[in-house]
Amino acid sequence: MIADMDETAGKHGSAWHAQSAEQALAAFGSRREGLSADEVGRARARHGANRIEVAAGRPAWRRLLAQMDNLFSWVLLVAAAGALLLDHALDAVVIAAVVVVNVAVGFIQEGRAEQALAAVRGMLSSRATVRREGRRAGIDAVEVVPGDIVLLQAGDRVPADLRLLRASNLRIEESALTGESVAVGKDDAPVPAGAQLGDRASMAWSGTLVAAGSGEGVVVATGPATELGRISHLLAGVSAPQTPLLRQMNVFASRLTVVILVVSVIALLAAWKLAGYALDEAFMTAVGIAVAAIPEGLPVIVTITLALGVQRMAGRNAIVRQLPAVETLGSVSVICSDKTGTLTRNEMTVARVVTAAGDWQVEGVGYQPTGTLRALTASAVPPDDLARAAALCNDAALHERDGAWGVDGDPMEGALLVLAARTGIDLSDLASEWPRTDEVPFDAAHRYMATVHPHPDGGALLAVKGAPEQVLALCEGRTGGREPQWWHDQVESLGRDGQRVLALAGAVLPSLPDRLTADSLHGVLQLHGLVGLIDPPRAEAIAAVAECRQAGIEVKMITGDHAVTAAAIAAELGLAHAGDVVTGADLEHRDDAQLRRLALATGVFARTSPEHKLRLVQALQADGAVVAMTGDGVNDAPALKRADVGVAMGRTGTDVAKEAAKVVLVDDNFASIVAAVREGRTIYDNIKKSVAWALPTNGGEALVILAALAMGLTLPITPVQILWINMVTAVTLGLTFAFEPGEPDVMRRPPRPSRENLLSAFLLWRVVLVSVLFALCAFAVFAWAKQTGAGLEAARTLVVSTVVSLEVFYLFSIRFLHRSSLDWPGVLGTPAVLLAVAAVTVLQLAFVYLPPMQWLFDTRPLSLGQLLVPVLAGIALLTVLEIEKWLSRLLRGRRGA
Ligand code: ATP
Repeated sequence: MIADMDETAGKHGSAWHAQSAEQALAAFGSRREGLSADEVGRARARHGANRIEVAAGRPAWRRLLAQMDNLFSWVLLVAAAGALLLDHALDAVVIAAVVVVNVAVGFIQEGRAEQALAAVRGMLSSRATVRREGRRAGIDAVEVVPGDIVLLQAGDRVPADLRLLRASNLRIEESALTGESVAVGKDDAPVPAGAQLGDRASMAWSGTLVAAGSGEGVVVATGPATELGRISHLLAGVSAPQTPLLRQMNVFASRLTVVILVVSVIALLAAWKLAGYALDEAFMTAVGIAVAAIPEGLPVIVTITLALGVQRMAGRNAIVRQLPAVETLGSVSVICSDKTGTLTRNEMTVARVVTAAGDWQVEGVGYQPTGTLRALTASAVPPDDLARAAALCNDAALHERDGAWGVDGDPMEGALLVLAARTGIDLSDLASEWPRTDEVPFDAAHRYMATVHPHPDGGALLAVKGAPEQVLALCEGRTGGREPQWWHDQVESLGRDGQRVLALAGAVLPSLPDRLTADSLHGVLQLHGLVGLIDPPRAEAIAAVAECRQAGIEVKMITGDHAVTAAAIAAELGLAHAGDVVTGADLEHRDDAQLRRLALATGVFARTSPEHKLRLVQALQADGAVVAMTGDGVNDAPALKRADVGVAMGRTGTDVAKEAAKVVLVDDNFASIVAAVREGRTIYDNIKKSVAWALPTNGGEALVILAALAMGLTLPITPVQILWINMVTAVTLGLTFAFEPGEPDVMRRPPRPSRENLLSAFLLWRVVLVSVLFALCAFAVFAWAKQTGAGLEAARTLVVSTVVSLEVFYLFSIRFLHRSSLDWPGVLGTPAVLLAVAAVTVLQLAFVYLPPMQWLFDTRPLSLGQLLVPVLAGIALLTVLEIEKWLSRLLRGRRGA
């Protein structure tokens, strides 16, 4: 595989890996500062958008054929052929027509479902960080052009093929291209021309993921010209994944079909040999049983309900990457959430600065760089060193658009830039005055970041920022004349106000180190001081936490932040057990049983690392919980994969996290997870309802024919009439389940057990009860019609109309599984329900009164008085079911008491 690709690359590629970085830059007329706007425009015109068109899904004719490929269609076609042979030409035509309509409806609905899912997938666009005209900017990955300078950091997806210009500890996972899942180290030095794709260490390939470190490179190929573009045809034609529910349904459907076939054959033999029917009559009876009992419309209803549900979730900012997550979302019992940006707004402002020599309040609005520092203590020395370190050890940039100031990059770093500007530092000259030669990038495991810059007066300047414990430890006692305990007290005091605390440190070195590593920081660092940042909780998150409590879902905050800060924010959010905070260090050295107890009992976990997240997910799952876990960093990927529903942040999350997650949040908002859970519960309910609605129709019809056969009675409905009922109600009433809103109590009941079978005992009972009621009604109406002098055809017409009416009334009943349907929302339905009822009424009237229909289905016009019968039967059914609901509520109440 690799060898093949290598050959292709050899033919197309320009072997950039073997050339120097400067040669690659020159070849594209680019420089390290990046292209100008004009150059970008020209490159864009020449090379097009950086997009790989994945070939469309299956062609239409294939999808059409696939619709035919089910046992049900074949059973019907065989029935039609049999009818034709037995001289029932009209029946044969009607049966064949039903197959055609069914295939057409399935085709259209599935197309809609595919479109809905494709649109949702299209919402997940990838971002890239580039340098253009010396300025760093975040852009859509499709905007990247050859010659662009792309900046890479851990977690990024490489947006195009790059020749690396700089790499620091850069490791890239290239499994998308080479199948090799171990990350490979990268370097900017040329490699021999004959190297295999996986060995070309001076290149970063489009579509691969940065596992660690950082770097930058010049774009040498975009879109279809990239290595990934060349193999993209391999990615096309991936079939839509099945969900456990769909699989369960399919197995159920094929088993049911086999049972039905066996019953039909036995019925055929019994009718022919025992009851003395003529062969053709016996055959048509058997066909009647088969077509009656098969729930042909159900698979389409379930598919479209799932797909439209996924679309609704996307509308609520939760993008489902893997369809099975929809079902799992509905059964989530614990949500583990990050704090920063998910539960809080991630709009950071530095509020306080504390140094050994003084204490300041920072004044100003948002990210606007203007503002001042107000000294809270007398004789405070301006914190210039601290501010300079804050500005240099920083990857963010401030921008002003339409008069509003914002941040490119991490909001916390943005806030530090604002602080620097407010102390009087000119940010525009900073990069040229203090160029960065190397860095230790931030990593959630070591919780600090360090950079090094040549000093204008000779030597070098080190700048470090990070979690206070970490930075204090690095400073090894050089803490500005204050004891470490004094600093810890300051951290606690800021944390109690809910502020996130960061420490800043630095050093002047006699010479510029070749490489900056953790070791270079030892023995030199001086602590400059602390900054306290405020990041208020999101108002929606407070409401969503309360909603979770009602829904029996536990919320746990798992944050990298300090315990005191985490506890203060948790209290503001109204999180249960907010008081007892457990830190990552407390989790270490616990055995599995202890960890399980701790995981269950604790609401807030602070100073955790991504490895702790993984252990917590496992501990909670061992206890039977269905866990949704949020994450954004590279190291969160294992926990995201392991969780039942991994949720990645769409805005601030790395591509690695998104790749590992099943759901991506467009707005990074905790409330969107809860909205998705609500939607997941609704979808599951709706599928359950659609099954409970569809099956009794089939059961009732089959019972009618079997009973008639057993008792030697005339059939009250003919097989083609049964087909009419099934088809017409499935494409109208059945599809309303896709549009059903959640029941009012959907977030007021405990989560569904994850192993619950769709066809629960309760649902089976409903199906049997309603099937029997349907059959009884059919016989009663048939008998009454005959008794009041109606002919056979008129009586059958009345029975068909009654069954259709029963379906309508049953729909109103099933819309609320346990609650009464007899209140205003229940009686009025939804626009979808009303439209479906109107449609089915018009179709049924056509069935009764239109001459061509009368000819096709052997129907007769009904009198106004007769028309009342179906309505009365429907009301009777609804009444019986309301009594049943009332009794079962009573019973459940007793049992619960
Ligand atoms: P959450 O996990 O809730 O999103 P968090 O953002 O605090 O919280 P991390 O990103 O793991 O979690 O950060 C942990 C700690 O590391 C922070 O509290 C802060 O002290 C420090 N830190 C975060 N980002 C940086 C950074 N860019 N540079 C230096 N230190 C950082």
